[in-house]
Amino acid sequence: MTATAIYATKIIAPQEEFTDCVMTIVDGRITYIGPRDEAHIPPGAADYVASNLTVVPGFVDVHIHGAGGRDVMEATPEALDKITATVARFGTTSMVATTVTAPVDATCRSLEGIAKYIRAQKPAAERTRFGAEILGIHLEGPFIAHARRGVHPTQSIAPPSIPVFKQLFAAADGLVKMITIAPEIPGAIDLIHAATAEGVVVGIGHTNATYEQARAAIDAGARHGVHVYNAMRPFTHRDPGVIAAILTDTDVTAEVIADNVHVAGPAMQVLLGTKGFDTVIAISDGISATGMPDGKYRLGEIEVDVSKGVARNAEGNLAGSTLTLDRAIRNLVNLGVPFADAVRMATILPARRLGVAGKKGILAVGADADIVVLTPEMRLAGVMTCGVGLS
Ligand SMILES: [Zn+2]
Repeated sequence: MTATAIYATKIIAPQEEFTDCVMTIVDGRITYIGPRDEAHIPPGAADYVASNLTVVPGFVDVHIHGAGGRDVMEATPEALDKITATVARFGTTSMVATTVTAPVDATCRSLEGIAKYIRAQKPAAERTRFGAEILGIHLEGPFIAHARRGVHPTQSIAPPSIPVFKQLFAAADGLVKMITIAPEIPGAIDLIHAATAEGVVVGIGHTNATYEQARAAIDAGARHGVHVYNAMRPFTHRDPGVIAAILTDTDVTAEVIADNVHVAGPAMQVLLGTKGFDTVIAISDGISATGMPDGKYRLGEIEVDVSKGVARNAEGNLAGSTLTLDRAIRNLVNLGVPFADAVRMATILPARRLGVAGKKGILAVGADADIVVLTPEMRLAGVMTCGVGLS
């Protein structure tokens, strides 16, 4: 048995808040949170004293392509180990490995590798390696719009196809949790029905959809907007488009890349002001360059140049980011979001969208011990992944 007792000034769980409390962890899971005088500290527990620090759940990133110089499309155990270990250093303790548009056979090979890695991950009680858990796969492409492809390679974009989706889903051993679809392309609505029926969260993204086309997608089961504002038909007052459909539906969650580059501050405020703090999800859209110096990197098959932390392709288009979710939280707070709400946007809200909120993105008895400790300046002071780390 391995056990830890964290003595904390404050815990934002985030569904509840505790002050001057203790949290105990046994074999990778949380066994108690509450007042110190009522706690049963497991014998032999390692003490961690978090005085003047705030303890929050580990971050859940539903849209991330890579980190530490490696890309999820490489799909080898070495690459995925490097990615999961790198993001964990920045507080991300679980993630959805996100593909980028590539030929179907190459994508299938990647999906097989990622699925094998996911299946080989040990349960919380048996973890000894510090690193984020991969919860599943987000298929970003190939069913996107040429008109809003961003840096996705045009030759590999494909029209929505249920047989191709089934091929990808099978290659991923059923571990696709999310898919980005442009709903205005013929065949998309049928595909949204098919993906939803498999329990996949359908995200509207890389799309030139009108308001009506995006509404049709929501009516068919889409419940998520992929990096909202980016790679979408712009909002105008007589053609409000896909952005208005996402902003005005309270059942639809909206991803946002809060790196102060992808979305201007006032546009962030429009998003947050319209959707409130319950349906906005902080993502990184991080690529291999995350946690690395500036230089040349790859996103799938795309060559990317990173300068001052901003990733662009040869034409100068933004190619994902090098954002980490700890920085996203600081940026959201700087925009006026209350700290606890910014924490929720990176923890329980994405976990809920994935249907894993009892286990991830939450500090509660029985949940995995995915824990982040933050200074008053919201800098990382410690990270634990399934009971491993924090020291
Ligand atoms: Zn994208």
